[in-house]
Amino acid sequence: MTSSVQLNPDIVVRFAPSPNGLLHLGHAYAAMMAHDFARARGGQFLLRIEDIDSGRSRPEFVTAILDDLRWLGLGWDGDVIFQSQRLDSYAAAAERLKALELLYPCFCSRSDMRLLQADGPQPEGPDGPIYAGTCRHLDPGQARKRATKEPHSWRLDVAKAAAITGPLQWMDERHGAQLSHPERLGDVILVPKETPVAYHLAVTVDDARDGITHVVRGDDLFASTAIHRLLQALLGLPTPIYFHHRLLCDEEGAKLAKSRGSASLSVLRLAGKSGQDLLQDFRQGIFPVGISLS
Ligand code: GLU
Repeated sequence: MTSSVQLNPDIVVRFAPSPNGLLHLGHAYAAMMAHDFARARGGQFLLRIEDIDSGRSRPEFVTAILDDLRWLGLGWDGDVIFQSQRLDSYAAAAERLKALELLYPCFCSRSDMRLLQADGPQPEGPDGPIYAGTCRHLDPGQARKRATKEPHSWRLDVAKAAAITGPLQWMDERHGAQLSHPERLGDVILVPKETPVAYHLAVTVDDARDGITHVVRGDDLFASTAIHRLLQALLGLPTPIYFHHRLLCDEEGAKLAKSRGSASLSVLRLAGKSGQDLLQDFRQGIFPVGISLS
């Protein structure tokens, strides 16, 4: 879908949904925020489908995303981008980090993690318990040998990486200048056992590749930006400006989520509601009963 507006090449924004379920009102708000940010500045609005998890992504969810965005009146520029077609570039980025000796194989299973939890509470990060670093302490030679026969993920040694880059900063147009704190997320997985690449690495590589100048996304990803900033510094990639927007929440103040059964956009669309009217309301701060901004 190509827009006929004169585009400002200095502004490129994206909406990057994962097609592992139907979009809900929170996604409509996020897509609108990114779209309107781009259009208000005459910039480009790209659509990137984050379908790296082949076990959870479904073609019917991709179709629904495209139909939902058209229904909402949010047109994107150029072809739809699919992360599943870019696996080579993520593998190349992971190889670079391995060559810098910043990734280590991790053999911990989910039950190992649960056992650790049972031992005593692990420090809590913004995205859950911080990895205890068990496999960071393995002898590198032995770890390499085990890696040839045992399933494993690859984790980023955040302390080692941060020691190379030194302190990093990034700018958030809504929250102001930020000093980066990647250690708050701990040694995140960049190459999972089950999928070719993790969100943090794919999103960082792609935002650079797509020339994204402004990352407009929800506050739920605010903390992750510290890892993305670290990866940018390690891989020599540019740092976009960020804008983390407020989230749509339910009556209990929890962010809307598929798992909490928030109504999907397709249900509203197929019931004949107007997506454009819905967004006109959002733009005026009017939300359905029981839903409000964080
Ligand atoms: N794919 C991510 C999601 O659906 C969003 C990625 C981003 O905006 O950085 O939550």
